[in-house]
Amino acid sequence: MSDKSRYNLLNFIFAAGVLFLATACFCSSNRSASHDETPDVFVGESNSNAAVPVSAAPFSKGKKNDEGNFIVQHLEIRTPRYKEIDRQVKEAKLLENAAEKLNGKLSLPRDIYLRTKDCKEANAFYDANDRSVTMCYELMEHFYRVFKSDGTPEEKADLKMNDAVRFVFLHEIAHALIDQYKLPVAGNEEDAADKCSAYINLKELGEEGVRAVYAAADAFAIESKQGDNSNRNLADEHLLREQRFYNSLCMIYGSDPANNQKIVESGYLPKERAGRCQGEYQRAVDSWINLLEPWRKN
Ligand SMILES: [Zn+2]
Repeated sequence: MSDKSRYNLLNFIFAAGVLFLATACFCSSNRSASHDETPDVFVGESNSNAAVPVSAAPFSKGKKNDEGNFIVQHLEIRTPRYKEIDRQVKEAKLLENAAEKLNGKLSLPRDIYLRTKDCKEANAFYDANDRSVTMCYELMEHFYRVFKSDGTPEEKADLKMNDAVRFVFLHEIAHALIDQYKLPVAGNEEDAADKCSAYINLKELGEEGVRAVYAAADAFAIESKQGDNSNRNLADEHLLREQRFYNSLCMIYGSDPANNQKIVESGYLPKERAGRCQGEYQRAVDSWINLLEPWRKN
């Protein structure tokens, strides 16, 4: 890694403080009045790729016991170029702060562990076996390089990396919640996790959240452009990057069509799909709010 890359990655880590703090705020109740009504996810557009969790009234009854916490685990870093970054993550207590905020807002049936570490691959994942969410330093570096490779200036690539990682972190948190809360997911869990991340970002994190979903869409587009399309793994549970690109844009547009007309006018999101996005977005929001409600502490 060049000094410049190191510098940008260090910038990322400090910005990650915002990421984790912002993430930790997602549970704070910012619900509109309409969310107090029991949403009916079966009403509205029915021909969208319905991969949002199915919310149901019984799951909204009563609060669950809090029998666990988000717990930070610092593992040994073996990749020399990530050791300094890891030291700073510990010193700034980034994960500890995130865990504290999350624990203040969400009940858990058992402990969930939060980690940042080197993984020898650009990845982020929830592991159900040991109930851990891991953000790999390699993935952060990967996003930075993806944006740089598309001609984005270094400083902006750094910002977009921060934004994209926020989307991914919340996607992984969604996997953890689906597993630990035993949430009913009707459809593809990967898409449900994307919808959860989009909901939290767009509904609860303001401008910062909108940037996160835009950055994720951008990364999907660049990666698909650079990928070898003749060798795509259609057996993989993730949707194709092109689909995740359109779905992300659809969530952004659906959350606020008036302020995001450029997505349609520029031709990035086909008009035919755009017409259904408000319904898709609202269904995702209502479903996730309803599903998480028994676990919210306040
Ligand atoms: Zn996933």
